[in-house]
Amino acid sequence: MSTIFEKILAGEIPANVVYEDDDIFAFHDISPQAPVHVLVIPKKKIRSFSNLKDSEIEFVGRYMSGVSKVASLLKLDDSGYRVVFNHGKDGQQTVDYIHAHIIGGRSLTWPPG
Ligand code: 5GP
Repeated sequence: MSTIFEKILAGEIPANVVYEDDDIFAFHDISPQAPVHVLVIPKKKIRSFSNLKDSEIEFVGRYMSGVSKVASLLKLDDSGYRVVFNHGKDGQQTVDYIHAHIIGGRSLTWPPG
């Protein structure tokens, strides 16, 4: 079954797009938890963070590098930000398509809830 992010990627559901290239797609979260809350997904589907270990290292590198690039485009490098990957039930993953949350624009608390 197709996830909501596959539908966004296919243009079937609208999204507020931040950045796109051959490897990644970045868009604003529909329910932002901070002034800046952007999701970055690879165009090639990976179900979750735990599945990354089965992926080609070059692909993983391009994805991670892309997340860093998007954070820079969002002008968060100086103020700082957090990158979160939720995995599985305890991690509160709700969409079965890997996504990096880039969260910033305010001072974040630690530990997370
Ligand atoms: P998870 O809990 O799986 O780590 O994060 C899924 C994220 O996707 C949530 O932060 C949620 O707000 C976001 N989300 C769910 N549905 C949509 C949607 O249709 N559009 C956008 N832009 N974000 C969504």
